[in-house]
Amino acid sequence: MNKFVGAHVSAAGGVYNAPLNAMAIGAKAFALFTKNQRQWKAKPLDEETIEKFKANLEKSGIAPRHVLPHDSYLINLGHPEEEKRQKSLDAFIDEVRRCAQLGLDRLNFHPGSHLKKMSEEACLDRIAEAMNITLEETEGVTLVIENTAGQGSNLGYRFEHLAYLIDKTKDKSRVGVCLDTCHMFTAGYDIRTKEVYEETMKEFDTIVGFGYLRGMHINDAKPKLGSRVDRHHSLGKGEIGWEAFELIMNDPRMDDIPLVLETIDESIWAEEIAALYRLIKA
Ligand SMILES: [Zn+2]
Ligand SMILES: [Zn+2]
Repeated sequence: MNKFVGAHVSAAGGVYNAPLNAMAIGAKAFALFTKNQRQWKAKPLDEETIEKFKANLEKSGIAPRHVLPHDSYLINLGHPEEEKRQKSLDAFIDEVRRCAQLGLDRLNFHPGSHLKKMSEEACLDRIAEAMNITLEETEGVTLVIENTAGQGSNLGYRFEHLAYLIDKTKDKSRVGVCLDTCHMFTAGYDIRTKEVYEETMKEFDTIVGFGYLRGMHINDAKPKLGSRVDRHHSLGKGEIGWEAFELIMNDPRMDDIPLVLETIDESIWAEEIAALYRLIKA
């Protein structure tokens, strides 16, 4: 099996610390924020920071394609107000450029929210437009749309939303998706037994297509199936349970992509990673 498991590690003190933090927990993949995720502005990455990041990534033995940077939580590409949408778009383009500077080939983002001020479809059109502008203004980085729990007015909770955005994206070579197991489950897609797991994955393949899968977030869920509440839990401690994670670890469709923990107790990430690898059947 060709599985690359890690966690969303801290980049405190500098992005170049993230690969070292990944190494320390035995990760073969990781996610990071390339800037403070709760602030709009960030100082540009300087040459020294970029070189240190690349050197540490090399030291970690983790391939760039197994790194899944996550964009800022402030960004809403579907914001109904023009000024705020523009601010989001500018920040998003900046994030894509930061990934390219670091030698990374993908950026994970949440599609956006209509804030109950426009229809889902109009909001998806807005997001797709922002994605197309971003792709025209940047190079080398794939935009990886994350499925969501559908909390509040967040879009991306149906596979159809992801497919709609891909369909509207002009350059299909630079668009992909990230499946978050917690979000999938709380959005109503069951994966707890072999039977329902296969059904859900078949639905995903039919509507979106595994060819677009560029990463996964491996999380258990505190809330129940279909609750549309986004609360992660440690593996095996939530409503999803170990069987789903065993199915993923033995599913060749999840080979060679970053599988990233965003579970709530980072002190046990090393154990969770080791436990996931132990699930692989010879
Ligand atoms: Zn996630
Ligand atoms: Zn979440």
